[in-house]
Amino acid sequence: MSTLAPLRPGTPVTYHDSLAAYRGKRIAHPCECRRCFDRKLRGLPVQRYDLWPANGIRPRSHFPEHARRSSVTPFP
Ligand SMILES: [Zn+2]
Repeated sequence: MSTLAPLRPGTPVTYHDSLAAYRGKRIAHPCECRRCFDRKLRGLPVQRYDLWPANGIRPRSHFPEHARRSSVTPFP
């Protein structure tokens, strides 16, 4: 699982996990939830992602957060 390469902020990906309404092309950014923020403060890598719409504009609400790296595949 953890052998997947981390994604740079703004990486185009395809989301293919359980939230069916959000499957398809997304833009991955490092997750900004409280748990991930705490990891960052402790100097640990953030391994979860916020998935923005394909237009690259961060929505105010209702987008997948804290997605696993294994839930997305970067575009080649
Ligand atoms: Zn998170």
